[in-house]
Amino acid sequence: MPRTALCPVCRAPTDPLFKPFCSRGCRDRDLLKWLGEDYRVPGPPADVPDRKDDD
Ligand SMILES: [Zn+2]
Repeated sequence: MPRTALCPVCRAPTDPLFKPFCSRGCRDRDLLKWLGEDYRVPGPPADVPDRKDDD
């Protein structure tokens, strides 16, 4: 029984192409998160989900 790895960013099943993430988007997001520890990009945060919008 294969081990099911989950994306640490969004918990979706891992894609072998982007291990250990599920997609390039999550891989980049995780990378940016780590970079953010020491390097802060000026300006408003991009691609951050906001619950202002009514679904
Ligand atoms: Zn993901």
